[in-house]
Amino acid sequence: MLILVVNAGSSSLKYQLINMDDESVLAKGNCDRIGIDGHISHKTADGRAFDADCTFPTHTEAFEKLVEVLTTGDHAVIKSMDEISAVGHRIVQGAEIFDRPCLVTPEVIDQIDGLAELAPVHNHAHALALRACTAVIPATTPQVVVFDTAFHQTMPPKAYMFGLPYEDYEKYHVRKYGFHGTSHRFVSSALAEAMGKNIEDLKIVSCHLGNGSSITAVNGGKCVDTSMGFTPLDGVLMGTRCGAVDPSAVTFVASKHGFTPDEMSQYMNKKSGFLGVSGVSSDNRDIQEAAKQGNKRAQLASEMLAYEIQKYIGSYTAAMNGVDAVLFTGGIGENSAEIRELVCSGMSWFGIEIDNEINNATRGKLQKISTPDSKVEVWIVPTNEELLIARDTLELISK
Ligand code: AMP
Repeated sequence: MLILVVNAGSSSLKYQLINMDDESVLAKGNCDRIGIDGHISHKTADGRAFDADCTFPTHTEAFEKLVEVLTTGDHAVIKSMDEISAVGHRIVQGAEIFDRPCLVTPEVIDQIDGLAELAPVHNHAHALALRACTAVIPATTPQVVVFDTAFHQTMPPKAYMFGLPYEDYEKYHVRKYGFHGTSHRFVSSALAEAMGKNIEDLKIVSCHLGNGSSITAVNGGKCVDTSMGFTPLDGVLMGTRCGAVDPSAVTFVASKHGFTPDEMSQYMNKKSGFLGVSGVSSDNRDIQEAAKQGNKRAQLASEMLAYEIQKYIGSYTAAMNGVDAVLFTGGIGENSAEIRELVCSGMSWFGIEIDNEINNATRGKLQKISTPDSKVEVWIVPTNEELLIARDTLELISK
């Protein structure tokens, strides 16, 4: 059974075609520069690649091209879209409306579009892609939406409410939503499996560290708190995002620079984080390289990230009244031995001890990196959001 997974942005449309019989990826690619000019890059599992400039005025033309490359030419992997059993879409913001995956209907698309105010960069683009997909694929092919926020809907009000007037929660839905939920759900259950334990018996701190980073407390398989908030800007220092700062610093800086709300948002989302602190780059590899060369601001950026993660591990241990395992995932979490070591050193009181040799030798694969004596197990768990979207899609259409 084949499932197409779609991850649409405002100017891009990433896709993977997954064979659910063995969960292998048959082909994947990206249509990007939608609304600008257009480009598609496509690769099959057996190494056939296709790259071309195209004309993508809207997501619909990009979807038509995606169908064309999957079904025709040297790089085709299927004969017709009828071979695809369902399409699963990643959706960033489901707010309080969606706490689980659901089948796509015209009303669901309107609801997703209606949440655009809460996720300006993403939700409208998702709605465009959903409408484009509906127009292009056979009407009999079901579509499923899987939400980044859904896993976090189990947080109690004491964790998701802000100390702002309650009326603004009621009127404008201002609260913590949390993001990367699909990833945190995938890796926490993969970790339970690797540990040979039932997830219901585990207290896990899940650290998804990439260009965007979030830390989640998972107690018994359910999210009880998470570091990202109303938007994916809150929490720890990220590639270009500042993470948590005193809100008074925001109003102060905005007035000093004479920024509008949008300009202040750009400043915090695009010019801050690793990039803003180091002045070197938003990319962790560049930061680590510069830090090794003695760049003090790059060293500071790394130390800030590690220190913030340590504090989240500490506070989430308090929130769960214990912790059995800490896991690292995402581009940085899976690959950066330096950041993992900075985080885990100095946490022996918590019962966290890692084996530096194993830590240094491991990149991008499932691996326990804590010592046999470590009270808390520490693991690297590669994430795979597309696979979980495909599994959710399969589960829903099988019902
Ligand atoms: P993601 O957003 O999950 O794709 O992660 C992107 C981040 O992972 C960037 O900051 C990269 O520098 C970082 N990253 C990817 N590969 C490595 C690596 N081999 N070593 C250190 N950092 C890496």
